[in-house]
Amino acid sequence: MLGNENILIAGPCAVENYEIMLQTAEYLTSKGITAIRANLFKPRTSPHNFQGIGLEGLDVLARIKQSHKIKLVSEIVDVRHISEMMNYVDVFQVGSRNMSNFELLRELGRTANPILLKRGMSATIEEFAYAAEYISCGGNNNICLCERGIRSFDNETRNMLDLSCIPLMKAKTRLPIIVDLSHSLGRKDIIVEMGKAALACGASGLMVEVHPEPQNALSDAAQQMNFDEFDSFLSNIFQNLNL
Ligand code: PEP
Ligand code: MN
Repeated sequence: MLGNENILIAGPCAVENYEIMLQTAEYLTSKGITAIRANLFKPRTSPHNFQGIGLEGLDVLARIKQSHKIKLVSEIVDVRHISEMMNYVDVFQVGSRNMSNFELLRELGRTANPILLKRGMSATIEEFAYAAEYISCGGNNNICLCERGIRSFDNETRNMLDLSCIPLMKAKTRLPIIVDLSHSLGRKDIIVEMGKAALACGASGLMVEVHPEPQNALSDAAQQMNFDEFDSFLSNIFQNLNL
């Protein structure tokens, strides 16, 4: 989907402004990372929280695309945005809250863009697989699945990372699957261990949040890694894996 095995998608929770995206893109490309999170829309649980900068941010994406060789992965929340966004975005991400937005899935199935389909927060394996079929029915088979944790009872982690989803979805759909460690865990102190576990279970890659100053981020401050933390994540994650 993104050209190779072991996909690593990194970047801020949301596109906040050009400066932060530039700094992050600069840093990630220097580390050899080939895909950056570039979310203009942030469907949040509360309507009072930061919702993203919206289509106005397309200009930021255009400038990053022009100056850096890095794929832009951006969440799509509305069928009406598809035609405009496809000119700027390399990969359309369907967020957890939209996994069952079947009209959106159908329309994305008619595009040629790769689709990153995230698991709904309470979606069963079967529902997740059918959501992918809504896309492929339209002719677009360039789909990568993403496990991002499911709802559970324990608040130690933000969600419960369901590792069994990885081999189950691979067998059921024959599609690649990656794991979003940041939204699964909601914390960064156990991110290396869980990333290794995800890869050992057959994940084709990982997604993580990286921000130049996580403490000042407009969303998900607690789980975003700063550049030093990402350096250490990167040097530890593929070590002693023997895969
Ligand atoms: C995200 O990746 O930005 C996001 C909001 O994740 P999820 O849809 O999995 O909650
Ligand atoms: Mn986030």
